[in-house]
Order: sequence, then C-alpha cells, then structure tokens
Amino acid sequence: MVALDEVEREIVATVRQFVDRHVVRAASELEHADTYPEALIEQMKALGVYGLVVPEEYGGLGVSTSCFAAVTEELARGWMSLAGAMGGHSVVASLLTRFGTGAQRDRYLPRLATGEIRATMALTEPDGGSDLQAMRTVARPDGDEYVVNGTKMWITNARRAGLIAVLCKTDPSVEPAHRGMSVLLVEPGPGLTVSRDLPKLGYKGVETCEIAFESCRVPASAALGGAAGNGFAQMMSGLELGRIQVAARATGVARAAFEASLAYAQSREAFGVPIWMHQSIGNYLADMAVKLEAARMLVFAAADRLDAGGRCDLEAGMAKLYASEVCWELCQTAVRIHASNGYSAEYPVERFYRDAPLMVVGEGTNEIQRSIIARQLVERGGLPYT
Ligand SMILES: Cc1cc2nc3c(=O)[nH]c(=O)nc-3n(C[C@H](O)[C@H](O)[C@H](O)COP(=O)(O)OP(=O)(O)OC[C@H]3O[C@@H](n4cnc5c(N)ncnc54)[C@H](O)[C@@H]3O)c2cc1C
Repeated sequence: MVALDEVEREIVATVRQFVDRHVVRAASELEHADTYPEALIEQMKALGVYGLVVPEEYGGLGVSTSCFAAVTEELARGWMSLAGAMGGHSVVASLLTRFGTGAQRDRYLPRLATGEIRATMALTEPDGGSDLQAMRTVARPDGDEYVVNGTKMWITNARRAGLIAVLCKTDPSVEPAHRGMSVLLVEPGPGLTVSRDLPKLGYKGVETCEIAFESCRVPASAALGGAAGNGFAQMMSGLELGRIQVAARATGVARAAFEASLAYAQSREAFGVPIWMHQSIGNYLADMAVKLEAARMLVFAAADRLDAGGRCDLEAGMAKLYASEVCWELCQTAVRIHASNGYSAEYPVERFYRDAPLMVVGEGTNEIQRSIIARQLVERGGLPYT
C-alpha cells in the first residue's frame, strides 16, 4: 500500500527485523521497570533512525515522510517509547533542515543524524499546552544574547537532549502574540535545569520532565533561521511532521493490539471452539482490521501530501485524530478479547492500553485537531478531491 522505493523498503524491513529480534520480548520488562532502553537506543542510532529526516549531505538518510512513518510504526509496534524517543528529535532535525541558517545546519545536523546529540522540543508550559500564544517563557534580548526565563512542562527526552528547540516570546508586547515568538536552539548549560521527572501512566523508560530557565543566556544567533519573530509559524509547520509521527505511533500500537488479539482469538478456546468463532469476537477482529487499515491510509496520505510541498495541517490533523482514536479504541477491544489476560501485566496488551491515550493528547489534543480540521475545511472549501 505504501509507495516506497527499494532502498526505503530495505530500511523499513531492517527496522522490522530489529523490532522482532530485540524489542518485542524486551519491551514489557523495561517498561514495567521504567528503565531507559540504552542498548536499544544505541542500536537505533546504528540503524540510522535518528537521521531518517536529515538530508544525506549532512550524513542522514533523507527518506520520504512515508518511509519515516513506516519506520515509526514498526518501532511503536514493538514499544511506543522507542518511537517517542526519536519523534521530537526528528521534528527538530526537520525544523533545522527547513528553516536553519547554514551555520545552524552545519553545527547540528551531522550530529543529530548519528544520534550523537539528541534533540527535543519544548512548547508546553505548566499553565497549558493548547494555547501556545499565552505562554510565559520570555527570552529578553540583551546585547548579542537572549536571557531566557520561564518553565516548560512535559518535555520528553529532556535529561538526555543535547539540543532543545524552545518556543518562547522574544517580544511579549507584540499583538498578535505569535508575531513576537521565536524558536531558540538551546544547549544544556548554566541557567537551564531539569527540575523534575514527571510520573506517567505509560510511555515509560523515556523521561518526560519539567525544565526551568533562570536567567539562561543564549547567543542571539540561536534564533532558528537567524531572525526573531518567526518561531510560531516555524513550529506550527514542524508540527505537521510531528502529528504524522504521532499518528504513525498510534497505528503501530494499534497494529500490535490487533495482531496480539488475532493470535489470541485463535489459540484461546471457550465452549469448545477458538474464541474468534464466537461472532462477537469475530466482529471485534473485523472492525479492528478495517479501522487500522483506514488509519494507516490517512497516515500515508498525509505523508505524501507533506512531501508534495504546501501546507498539510488538514491531512496531518485528520491522520493524527483518527489514528489516535482508533488506537485507543483498539487497545480497549484488545483488553476485552484477552479478558483477564488483557488485565495481566504478563501480557503486553495492558501496556498498549496505557500507552494509547498519549497519542490522543500529544502534539496537540484531538479537540485542537478538530478545530484545525474545521478551519481548514472552510478555508479550502471542503475536502481536496482533485
Ligand atoms: C507523556 C507526554 C509527553 C509530552 N512531550 C512533550 C514534549 O516533548 N514537548 C512539549 O512541548 N510538550 C509535550 N507534551 C505536552 C502535550 O503536547 C500537551 O499535553 C498537549 O499539547 C495538551 O496541553 P495540556 O496538557 O496543557 O492541555 P490543556 O491545554 O490544558 O487542555 C486541557 C483540555 O482543554 C481542551 N482545550 C483547550 N483549548 C481548547 C480549545 N480551543 N478548543 C477545544 N478544546 C480545548 C484540550 O483539548 C484538553 O482536553 C507531552 C505530554 C505528555 C502527556
């Protein structure tokens, strides 16, 4: 179904093999112990996963967004945390590729491509993540530096990130507020502390943190693209890839839930027959398969649209909304099919069930996606059928 060239098919097949050999069996133990998957991350680096969206001239693989989505899906099928660990990183790499100055690209992209440094993005604040224009983190210009003050919340990979793309206000007096916002490329240093790790329902093994900026000085040249005031538009554009990534994570988890259910329904018997032969369970499986396939089609349609150029917030929003809702629903259905074993920590289904809600919330909640979709439908005069 996905139109990938031979090299990209090979990349996806290699990652699939890595997931089958190394991730599927290890994931639950690492997840329950909330252990950072150091060895698996090292293997992902070696496979080039951190450089998927980095252009070849900077040492990356420079694959299509469909290939990036397919790799994300494979990783999430094994363990969603692994797909999360390369998600924000890839968005930052893509922001640098598209908007970075020559010096910014040279400084970061080669090391992002190998995973030598890992990147994350910091948008959300303690008072909220949906209304970004109300954010309070301010970077005040001071000579040839900015002085950053504020707190960011729910920042994934914060402890291990060598680069944080921070969305903040460089001119809080401007109206509308988005015109006074910038993305600053901040490296760990004085004035920046990871203030705490946040306990989570799922998505374990990879840290999600609160970070504090206290008179943190960064050079003026750290503004993405070299000029202040473009950060909101840059980040919204970067989030299109981020939403496709979250949608692909959702199809990966949904696929794992479906595949576990299909296998279980054939091996578990009740009333003398495999449970899939009971019409209720068979119907569950049929509905799961249809919804999963529909979700994947939206993901790859959005990926194609992104690569074709132009805005794809409608397509990315539709993919993210539908795939994440389907994921959550399929994980619940998987628990029903597994019944008591779906509630057991000895089966992976309970992990899928705990991981699923993140995709509904992250990278812009589904309520926000609906607003974006509605606005785009009106602006574009409906769905783009031609
Ligand atoms: C595990 C995890 C990892 C994360 N990683 C990162 C990260 O690396 N970097 C980062 O910046 N953020 C990250 N986030 C934050 C995530 O992106 C935000 O949680 C999300 O954007 C929602 O923000 P909020 O939780 O503050 O909800 P709020 O903005 O407080 O929203 C609360 C509720 O109100 C609804 N709502 C708000 N405004 C509207 C509206 N206009 N119309 C309709 N409904 C509305 C929301 O949909 C939601 O249901 C992470 C979150 C989690 C849970």
